[in-house]
Amino acid sequence: MTARVPQFHVDSEKFLADQERVGWHDGALWHLRYKRDLATQVVPDWEKLRDQAAAIKAHVLDHIPTLLSQFITNAEAAGWVVHLAPEADDLKRIVLDLLQKNGVTKAVKSKSMLTEECGLNHHLEANGVEVVDTDLGERIVQLRHEPPSHIVVPAIHLKRGEIGELFHEHLGTAKGEDDPIRLTRAARADLRKRFIGAQAGLTGVNFAVADSGAIVICTNEGNADLGTALQPLHIACMGVEKLIPTAADAGVFLRLLARSATGQPITTYSTHIRGPDPTRPGHQAHLVIVDAGRRRLFADDEHRRALSCIRCGACLNTCPVYRRASGHAYGTTVPGPIGAVLAPAMIGTAKAKELPFASTLCGSCTNVCPVKIDLHDQLLSWRRRLAREGHVPFSKRFAMKIGAQALSYPWLFSLGGKIARTFWGLARKGIPGPHAGWTKHRDLPPAPKQSFRGWWKSDGQNQGNPTNKDQDHG
Ligand code: SF4
Repeated sequence: MTARVPQFHVDSEKFLADQERVGWHDGALWHLRYKRDLATQVVPDWEKLRDQAAAIKAHVLDHIPTLLSQFITNAEAAGWVVHLAPEADDLKRIVLDLLQKNGVTKAVKSKSMLTEECGLNHHLEANGVEVVDTDLGERIVQLRHEPPSHIVVPAIHLKRGEIGELFHEHLGTAKGEDDPIRLTRAARADLRKRFIGAQAGLTGVNFAVADSGAIVICTNEGNADLGTALQPLHIACMGVEKLIPTAADAGVFLRLLARSATGQPITTYSTHIRGPDPTRPGHQAHLVIVDAGRRRLFADDEHRRALSCIRCGACLNTCPVYRRASGHAYGTTVPGPIGAVLAPAMIGTAKAKELPFASTLCGSCTNVCPVKIDLHDQLLSWRRRLAREGHVPFSKRFAMKIGAQALSYPWLFSLGGKIARTFWGLARKGIPGPHAGWTKHRDLPPAPKQSFRGWWKSDGQNQGNPTNKDQDHG
């Protein structure tokens, strides 16, 4: 799922160093969240749709072996050549093999988080196949040699001036050009040549329909359609969790997906592909079904619901931590709340130990999730497991032990309160050492002059609130 061990506290600091960018990034994502809210309010049965989607996904998780076998039977009957890839390396081997056997040296690829997760592009390029990402945002980050920072809007962390510079360097646009329409036109002209010159089209899969063997691909730019309509070879890569029972179920998800992602009523292109094109002699359609850690998550009763994710990005857009830290801080292909839930299962708790803590647990992610994944509960549950496995730093465990003792003995609680009130003023200036982050980006409220217990005992002499308006620290 990732090429390196996530270091959230280090990488988020890098992004936070540029406060102007942080403010702009935060605002851009909140705007998506706002548009999502408007779009959902005009669908009277929105909550019913969410319930329905959650029920379909729960059914899928309970019947994956049956649905998978039904899908493979129908897909093969429709002409797909189906390959199974237990691990990321298998996906890379299978795709490279197919491309080499067909003499492919140039391929185009539409957005696929799965292939990002498995590092497919690097592998193909290291073996002499040029792969061009055709989603505009993906193309931008590809030209910058960096991973996407968001699963729906991969270049959301960049300003248009930076994209102008990039296109000037790579696509020959005028120096200083930052008009989005002219920049998009330049990308379009360049991509059109790439589409025509490619010998194969690689795509992801949004939904795989078990009762027909069809796949559904959603894009706003039509790039998956052009990337499969012109080339003689189509290779679609899907995670096993993309299964849905029927085409009617796809209708439920299509109503939820784009509204949750960007506030659009529907993605501009929702394409159903059912095997090779019979009007094109020799056209080949291959489907690679990938596990790559999903079985581990499937076996984890506490967290398997995360496999229901339809990658709409709504939980990222609403998350106050993601909006200020950016996707690159997570160090995983899927960032944000869902990324922090998936990572410990996919790359292991030791590597992902910081990510479940990159959350305020405000629950906003759970509220917006179209398939009702209980994201903040899952984050909390990962925290408990990380603590049990000893992945929580000593300082935090020690502080929790002290806290537990203080809450168990009233005299200790009272003493702690006195000490805290004495040193509170110093803490307000900034906590030193490893916990400096607590006060770096927050203002501690002033210390109360009196404890709640003290105020309670002297009730009658004192009026109103015990201390400084609304705080009591024991
Ligand atoms: S967890 Fe829910 S909100 Fe987040 S990307 Fe997945 S489907 Fe969307």
